[in-house]
Amino acid sequence: MEVLDSKNPPNARRNGGAEIRLKARAMSRGVAIGRVVCLHGNSRQFFRIEIEDSAIERETRRARAAFRLARRQLKKFQSDSVSTAASVPGIFDAQRAMIEDSSLLSKIEATICEQKVNAEWAVKVVTDIYVAKYKAIDDQHLRERYIDVEDVAERILNALGGERSAPLGKNSIIVARELMPSTLAEQSGSNPTAVITEHGGWTSHTFILARELNLPAVTGVRKILRRVDTGDAAIVDGYNGRVILNPTEETLERYRLPAAQFQQINYNDVTVSDSQTRTLDGRDIVIRVNVDLPEVYKKAKRIGARGIGLYRSEFLFNRFKGFPTENQQYDAYREIAEFAGEDGVKIRTFDLGPEQVYGQNHGREKNPALGLRAIRLGLDDTRHLRTQLRAMLRASHDNKIDIVIPMVSGVDEIVKVRELIESETSALAAKGTQVGSPRVGAMIEVPSAVLLIDQIVEDSDFICLGTNDLVQYVLGVDRDNESVAGWFRTLHPAVLIAVRTVIKAAADAEKPLVICGEMAGSPFYLPLLIGMGATELSMNVNSILRIRKVISGIAYQETLPLAQEATKCRTADEVEAALERHINEKWSHLIQPERRKRPRI
Ligand code: PEP
Ligand code: MG
Repeated sequence: MEVLDSKNPPNARRNGGAEIRLKARAMSRGVAIGRVVCLHGNSRQFFRIEIEDSAIERETRRARAAFRLARRQLKKFQSDSVSTAASVPGIFDAQRAMIEDSSLLSKIEATICEQKVNAEWAVKVVTDIYVAKYKAIDDQHLRERYIDVEDVAERILNALGGERSAPLGKNSIIVARELMPSTLAEQSGSNPTAVITEHGGWTSHTFILARELNLPAVTGVRKILRRVDTGDAAIVDGYNGRVILNPTEETLERYRLPAAQFQQINYNDVTVSDSQTRTLDGRDIVIRVNVDLPEVYKKAKRIGARGIGLYRSEFLFNRFKGFPTENQQYDAYREIAEFAGEDGVKIRTFDLGPEQVYGQNHGREKNPALGLRAIRLGLDDTRHLRTQLRAMLRASHDNKIDIVIPMVSGVDEIVKVRELIESETSALAAKGTQVGSPRVGAMIEVPSAVLLIDQIVEDSDFICLGTNDLVQYVLGVDRDNESVAGWFRTLHPAVLIAVRTVIKAAADAEKPLVICGEMAGSPFYLPLLIGMGATELSMNVNSILRIRKVISGIAYQETLPLAQEATKCRTADEVEAALERHINEKWSHLIQPERRKRPRI
């Protein structure tokens, strides 16, 4: 039975067990068969996990610890806010009373024991009952107290995040409205088998990470949480963008082979002896790897990555469950730099917003993508940035480390970061600490940086071109928002003008430039990038072999007419058609039709 995006979505279990097929957008290639695990929560996401008797003690201990932490936090916020907002302490009083009321914790502990579930789920079950009771009260003032209960629940759930929760079961398919990258990073250790979401974009960090983990993923499935229950059987087809709920035995049979074949693709048996990549006519194209999770280093090197073109340092927040100390950062940077060796690593300073650095109590920004994020946040209160720079300076003493500044809007930020580096270098030297002198580069992501590229190039030792954000900011289209995914056009003529301008400016000034957005890892875009002059590409580990194959099968000279033709195109569709035509004529043996049909994969 074919059911596509109906207004009243059928639920797999309540649909009499019949098979349901849903259209989706493929985000990470592969096929998987498994059981659904529904994900809940806002700033802290969690699952219902059935636990063994032996884990009950661990989960109740986690709940008690979370209550203690939540109590301490509330006490602190209460004292911090006394002088700022008269009404706020009143709110905190109500919330503190709830957390200090021992019956709430007792009920949560009882739920863990009786239902044999993880602490997060028990918090949801118990607080949902409280919320429902408050919402049923006639008196409006009292009724609105449910908001306090929701706040308290969120606070306890966040506090639970400090300790590892129960792992997911085997073959779990994570299903969420929206999956946060930190949740996926946290769960990567329990080897989920696929991801289905309602929202997300091709370049959102969640799907970048899914591709790094080689995890089939799809998005755009409307009202997904209403269609499934935890435990439902499902198939995720990340090649064709399809979800099948309650698959029949016949359908399962059809998917078993592709799923098994996909499971076996791990490249563990592939080793590339020469990391040099050249076009047929001898143009060197350097392939580097983007690294978010430490596990990928080894694989990347084995398959020929020449160093790390982008290390997203903010992923350390997941590893260390919060702001990493200077020494934790120092160890992490040294570890990654030693791995990268002579080829070096480009470490980007934290590309985060205040909520992630200071916690959710900092308050939500209305437009986080345009808010106090990345280098703006670092320069707003320089304490954290100084800590990070010290760790980088120390780690670069005997390692090849470059510092990348995210979201540069003009030379101002580069000058300020250089001043901080100078000041921290002197302070460390005065204490007798040995430091290196890392090169400093700007990440080009916003239109002002493209317009001022000549000045920026002059003040930078190298340039990183972040096409994910570049497309977002040039076209004004949220990269994480599924509903505007159709407007996220990497081949938009305006984006191509920006890419060309930046590549040319760096080449004219003889400064190295690495393209490190998802565009760099797509075989479909590759001939165009090479034709526009790109010589260094940094990509997801799972793109490396494909890209290497295409590079060594094309000639630089034959990419030039394509790049030239693209300058005359007036729309993204025209560029895409030109690219299709050139591929059909020259490189159809290298770039498979299936990939060309869905160019972003
Ligand atoms: C980019 O914006 O292209 C980029 C590489 O960085 P991120 O995806 O982390 O924003
Ligand atoms: Mg970016």
